[in-house]
Order: sequence, then C-alpha cells, then structure tokens
Amino acid sequence: MFSLTEAQTLLKSGEISSRELVSACLERISALDGTIHAFLHVDAERALKQAEKADKRRKSKESDLPSLLGIPLAVKDVLTVEGMPCTCGSKILEGYLPPFTATVVKKLQAAGAIVIGKTNTDEFAMGSSTENSAYGVTRNPWDIDRVPGGSSGGSAAAVAAGFVPAALGTDTGGSVRQPASFCGVTGLKPTYGRASRYGLVAYGSSLDCVGAFGRSAADVATVFSIYNGRDPLDATTQDVPAAQISLETEAGSSLKGIRIGVPKEYFIAGIQPEVEEKVRAAIQKMSDLGAEIREVSLPHTEYALPVYYLIAPAEASANLARFDGVRYGPRVSGETMWDVFTKTRGEKFGDEVTRRIMLGTYALSAGYYDAFYGQAQKARTLIKRDFEQAFREVDAVACPVAPTTAFKIGAHGDDPLAMYLEDVFTLPANLAGVPGLAFPVGFDAAGLPVGMQLMGKHFNEATLFRLARAYQQATEWHMMKPTMDGGR
Ligand code: GLN
Repeated sequence: MFSLTEAQTLLKSGEISSRELVSACLERISALDGTIHAFLHVDAERALKQAEKADKRRKSKESDLPSLLGIPLAVKDVLTVEGMPCTCGSKILEGYLPPFTATVVKKLQAAGAIVIGKTNTDEFAMGSSTENSAYGVTRNPWDIDRVPGGSSGGSAAAVAAGFVPAALGTDTGGSVRQPASFCGVTGLKPTYGRASRYGLVAYGSSLDCVGAFGRSAADVATVFSIYNGRDPLDATTQDVPAAQISLETEAGSSLKGIRIGVPKEYFIAGIQPEVEEKVRAAIQKMSDLGAEIREVSLPHTEYALPVYYLIAPAEASANLARFDGVRYGPRVSGETMWDVFTKTRGEKFGDEVTRRIMLGTYALSAGYYDAFYGQAQKARTLIKRDFEQAFREVDAVACPVAPTTAFKIGAHGDDPLAMYLEDVFTLPANLAGVPGLAFPVGFDAAGLPVGMQLMGKHFNEATLFRLARAYQQATEWHMMKPTMDGGR
C-alpha cells in the first residue's frame, strides 16, 4: 500500500487513478479489517463515487488541482463528517448522524481528500488501548494479540495495516502519539489552538488537539499543513499564520544548529530497557546528523499524571453532561424526565466514562474545588513553566513516547491506574499546550515498534518535522510494515 507522498506522485503522473487507489484500500479493508477492526464505519459507495469525481476533475486539465485530490483518508470517530455516523465509540451516540462536518475534515475535503470511513476509539477518547470502545477492541497489526494503543487506536492501526495512507486522530493526553508509537507510524499532536476543534466531540476542552497519522514525517506534515489554522467557529484557535510545512525542500539537510534537550525525568525506573536503548540510539543518530544534544530538566514532570487525571475528568464531566437521551442518540424510557436522564446515562455510558464523570464531578464539587481542581491548575502552570525554561536552552526535547511497547489485550484488565501510567510521557505536552511528534525508532525483541517523541515550542511544529524528516532520511524504521499474517 502506498504512502501519501507515493499516492500523490502516482495520481499526478496518471499511473494510477483515484478509483484504483480507493478500490485497493477498500479491498484491503474487507480482507483484513475483520481481524484488525480499525473501522467502525466504512462508506465504500460514497468513497468510490468521490474517487470517480476526482478522476474526472484530474482529466479536466484544470490548473492548480488541490494537493490531496482523490486520496482516501480515515477519520477518528470523535470528529463529525456529515452523512456518516458519529458514535465516539459509545452506545450513548449509537446511530447519531451529525448534521455538519468538522472544520479540519472540511479543509481536507476541500483539498480533494476522500473520507473512506470512521475509525475505532476508546469511548469518548478515554483510554490508552482502544479497549474502552463499546464496539470492541482494535488489534495491533504487528501482533493481533496486542492493543494498538489509544485512544486513536483505530486510526493508527488503519495506517499501519495499509488501509489508508493517512488518518486523523485526536490527542488529549497522548492519544495520537502513543498509538503511533505502538503501531510503528508517525503521529503529530500539534500546539493547542493550532487547529480547529469545531466538530470534535469535546473530552477535555483545554487539552484536546486534532492530530494526524501517516507513514512518515513528510506525509503527516502534508496533512497537518492543510487542516491547521484559525477557525472563526473555534475561539480557542490562535490568530497566527497557518503552518505550511513542506519537507521536500529539506531533503538531505543537516541538523546543524538545532539543540535537542534530553530530560532526565523521562528516563525513569520501570521503563522497558529496549525502549530506552532505542530512543537513546535515535538521539545519538540525530547528534551524528549535526544536532547538539544537552541534558535538560523538567522538574515537575511527576505531577503531570495526577494533574491530568483531575483536569481531564473535570472538563469531561461538564462536556458529557449534554448526553442525556434528549438531545442526541438513543433514549431509555422512564417515568419522569429525571428517570430518562439517569437511565439513559446509566445504561449507555461505559465504565471508564462513568468513572471519569464521577471523578470530575467530585473534583469540581463545592468544598473540594480548591483542594483538587484549583491545586491541579496551579501545578499545571508549573509544568508549563518547566517547558518555557527548557526551551530557552533547546529547540526540542527528545524522550520516549510510552514506557513500554504495545501490551497484550486485557493486560491492564481491572486496573485503571496501570492504564493511566501508560500516559506518563505524553500528558505533559497537553498540559503545557506544546506540540509533540512520535515516530518509530526501532523494534523490541518481540518485534514490536518502539517510538520516540519530540516536543517543541508553541507553534513550532516545523522544527519537530525537520528533525524527524532528517532522521527518517537516514534510517528505515518508518518503512517497515507488519506482515499481517496473524502477527503471532
Ligand atoms: N489515555 C489518556 C486518557 O485516557 C489520553 C486520552 C487522549 O489523549 N484522548 O485520558
């Protein structure tokens, strides 16, 4: 299956048509997605129709054809696409058909992209394994007994399995970077406020970012360059010029002059030794390519986990109040209005979502607000300052994405705290609002991908892409594909 850059080249030269490309994706999905379960919804008919339209348009010799014309993409099922269901991996939105399309998706469609389907997610993006989806788990294409990571596990698996060349995900605490790492693909969480959240079903509004997956930094940069930018429909998008990152011109560029910080707090006890080894080797490679490596300190890192697990549930408890059986989705009937609310919410929300709503409601309740939520906000400021301080000395920070490679399905069974620990290296970027890029840097002894993360200054995704691009030009980890022979 082609990468995004390859697909663009082949479509342009006329070697393949969009119809052929979309059909190939659909065939691969129908052959293999029964096992992987990356998709919750695929609209083959609509995709093929749009492919034909794209082919016609390309033949029309129109000058200035949009850059993604006829290219199929997948979209995480927390972003709305008109005409396709949006479930957020939850029974409470089963059958819900949104009447509008998320701005980020609209922009990609305007650039010619074809949304082929919606991908699986932990319910309302709460989780790190896609096991919290009400519609069943997604399997990791590298080993189908393992999770793909989460919550954007469907999108990551769809790219890793070669179902689509690129996909959209969302990242509130690591949900693009961690599944990218587990599935051996490249994934970006942009700066908070860089891309529109209009049409993204809110989880933690001060943390949520729309991110992208692709096979390489170049592919992700292409997608990001199209969907980012200020949106009048989302007041939290920043009024800065949209990022236009073209890595083509960066070919072979050295990393001279770029300073990379290695935070000592991210190489902690408990991290899988092979993860540390591969990430350190990748940092060495970047040094060989000309980057300057320094140790830095992000001293409040240890607070990120408790702070996130107060702020995110607090925001979620407010955001999810709208799902009451009246406004959206199915309704469980009851004697009184109150009955309808409680029965619908009680029956349709899964355990993790219920846990977060209870946690968040508690943290926000009178008497506890200052002790929990107020304290968490103060600690969040300290974490943000750590980054500001580090970025006075370095241009990017390099560290692992997650402490381990992909774990077995069911491994964290009844232990939500063990699951929360998976996010220890990704949460700080969301709390500070800085961008993070994950990409593969090797494999462990079990043949599972190891990911590395680069974090950068606010609005400086370009430096992260430049570093990853130089690394990917010098190495081949991002070219590796799972055999998909059952993966055992
Ligand atoms: N695993 C984290 C959580 O459950 C992050 C999820 C996300 O980024 N959407 O909240």
